[in-house]
Amino acid sequence: MSDHSERDLLRELFPETARELFGSGAGATVPTLGLYPVADGRMALVSGGHLSELEPLEQKGTKAAHCDLCHVTRSRSEAGVFRVRATERTTLYLTLCLNTEHCQRRAGKQGLEALAERVLSRVAVGREE
Ligand SMILES: [Zn+2]
Repeated sequence: MSDHSERDLLRELFPETARELFGSGAGATVPTLGLYPVADGRMALVSGGHLSELEPLEQKGTKAAHCDLCHVTRSRSEAGVFRVRATERTTLYLTLCLNTEHCQRRAGKQGLEALAERVLSRVAVGREE
């Protein structure tokens, strides 16, 4: 029962992203934890029933970037800066490897959980577990 309402909530918050992730049909598998590339270079961070949308920012400078997920230092061309609008007043900036598949493998489940906690603790979704 909670699956259904969670998905409904996500559709309400991020209709486009939810559609890309879960499809529009019933019975689609809902990912429980992970970063998923969606359209326009955006990423979706999913943890349990929560979803945050990561919006890519213009690259500035040529300094090396430190990935907030796998904690590897990368060149600017290998990493991107993403903005997460947590609440109306809170915006979080994350640096992430552009090759998210390898990045997530390096970070492992623990790394993903830590990142999700960091992001979602600022996101007021307005619902309790
Ligand atoms: Zn990384």
